Amino acid sequence: MQTSKFIRWHEKQLYLSFAWLLSCLLCGFLFATVVEYVAKYAAGIFTILSLLGLYVIGIAAIELFRRFWMQFSFAQFCSSSATCKSCGSYGLFDVRRETWPIYARCDKCGYSWVIGSEDDE
Ligand SMILES: [Zn+2]
Repeated sequence: MQTSKFIRWHEKQLYLSFAWLLSCLLCGFLFATVVEYVAKYAAGIFTILSLLGLYVIGIAAIELFRRFWMQFSFAQFCSSSATCKSCGSYGLFDVRRETWPIYARCDKCGYSWVIGSEDDE
């Protein structure tokens, strides 16, 4: 059985979101490492530079987590609306990357619906 285009698209969205999350965790480890460096070795100008680095790493970690959450929740939202209301088949449609909202047309029965429109429940 061939995997539908929507399911492949959804998997790609999840992989990308977890790449953001992994980057966020690596930033967290880097943050902890710099904190330990500052606590043990930094003195003078290096303390100020290290604190500046901590600020940048902290902002980056927050941004990376925000990107993870936005992409993850977007993928989950789309998957919750991916069932055809006519025949009940799940994810049997193509996703064109550039379009928002997503215009879906069931490959099985031809029913059309919009994911992300104002009247979507
Ligand atoms: Zn259908």
